[in-house]
Amino acid sequence: MPSSLFLLPLRCASRSERRSFSKEHIGLTFQNRPATFIRNMPGVNEAIAKTSCCIIGGGPAGIMLGFLLARAGVPVTVLEKHKDFFRDFRGDTIHPSTLELLYELGLLDKLLAIRHSKITQASACVGDYHVTIADLSHLPTHAKYVALMPQWDFLGFLASEAAKFPHFTLRMEWEAIGLLQADGATTGVIARTPEGTVEIPATLTVGCDGRHAISRQSAHLPLLEEGVPIDVLWLRLSRQKDDPENGLGYANFGRLIVLINRIDYFQVAYLIAKGDFPKLQEAGLPAFRESLTRIVPFLADRVHEIDSWDKVKLLTVQVNRLSRWSSPGLLCIGDAAHAMSPVGGIGINIALQDAVATANILSEALRSNSLTPHHLRQVQQYREKAVRRTQAFQVFAHRILNKVLKNPGPVHPPLILRVLTHLPGFKYLTARLIGMGLQPEHIRSPALPYTK
Ligand SMILES: Cc1cc2nc3c(=O)[nH]c(=O)nc-3n(C[C@H](O)[C@H](O)[C@H](O)COP(=O)(O)OP(=O)(O)OC[C@H]3O[C@@H](n4cnc5c(N)ncnc54)[C@H](O)[C@@H]3O)c2cc1C
Repeated sequence: MPSSLFLLPLRCASRSERRSFSKEHIGLTFQNRPATFIRNMPGVNEAIAKTSCCIIGGGPAGIMLGFLLARAGVPVTVLEKHKDFFRDFRGDTIHPSTLELLYELGLLDKLLAIRHSKITQASACVGDYHVTIADLSHLPTHAKYVALMPQWDFLGFLASEAAKFPHFTLRMEWEAIGLLQADGATTGVIARTPEGTVEIPATLTVGCDGRHAISRQSAHLPLLEEGVPIDVLWLRLSRQKDDPENGLGYANFGRLIVLINRIDYFQVAYLIAKGDFPKLQEAGLPAFRESLTRIVPFLADRVHEIDSWDKVKLLTVQVNRLSRWSSPGLLCIGDAAHAMSPVGGIGINIALQDAVATANILSEALRSNSLTPHHLRQVQQYREKAVRRTQAFQVFAHRILNKVLKNPGPVHPPLILRVLTHLPGFKYLTARLIGMGLQPEHIRSPALPYTK
């Protein structure tokens, strides 16, 4: 367990912050009713002080938004259903665009003091053709690389910095189970806590609850799914000192494998056709291990480490987005508004960029209590184009990856790849796309001085 988790200062709701209250639970939403009507109803039994913004989900989007709003002097409560941030194989890739945000916040050096590895180049072995796809060393940023750091370390760091602001409250093990609604607008959240069910009235509720968000379901926000032909298996294999440093992709014999340097181990992404995991399991672990060595021969001395399917985690790849990110009183961002494919390792970075844009657009209105549905729509209008274009690129990449997966023979790199990768500037352009994304954000929300 990383030490930063133990250092995380959490503010818990004190008894005096709460007052007794009962509410009726209607499906996933809760209707505000007169207190006389609901006083003896089972279900919700407590209410806590009203907050300006209640954020559902303490992932990258939620913690960053909470940090920025609290920094701007907006009272904010972040609810996280788990008791810690510790989850393996999440987005651990902190791209230059995100590192630049940390620089703008004056936190880059402090973050980089946490143990991490770096990717300065991404290369690929397509059959026997080896090529550098992206070179990040020339980016116009302070950190010219992708930092690889466990997401729990990153979140722990950001949450502990956020807790220095008096307006920030993080409630771990508080799970949103519904929305408070009145007159067609969301007016807060109902949460299950270790001490019982509570309601958190809020001027604005932000759904940062990821790809299975209850926020968007509760508000009936419509979801558009893109068809995805691939899934990804994640596993780890030990890394030795003389192994390659940078990100490496291997494609051959109907298999695609990516190795990510995590200092003492490789995080391995093993791409499969969608739904093929049970078939692979049926074929058995020896066949799986052999397929790894066939594509990446230098792994032969360590594939025995995969001695159980428990060590292989399936990521069901999804690409989707809400057609409407908001309704009165509610906004969804990050994976809750648009699940990204792992292609490019950009999911966490896009979620963070959403959070920055949201704080830029909403902090003043929240602080002056003048928030309107128009402000919420502005967030979607501002971010949606970049998200849609990035998803379109990922969908295109899936088609190519799927072709490789469907060809069990040796791969011959297509002429277009050979030509493109020899063009001067190609690897810098791809680095810019991967490292900075289509619409990198900058911190424009105001800052109040630290008071603790
Ligand atoms: C296996 C896997 C591997 C990935 N690898 C990469 C990668 O290499 N690079 C990359 O950039 N992206 C990767 N991603 C995607 C990346 O993790 C997400 O895009 C990113 O984390 C989205 O951030 P978010 O804050 O929007 O949502 P999430 O990170 O999903 O955070 C949502 C949070 O909300 C909490 N929550 C959910 N429901 C509730 C509730 N009802 N009440 C309270 N809390 C709730 C969850 O516990 C979670 O902490 C990966 C995703 C997965 C699943």
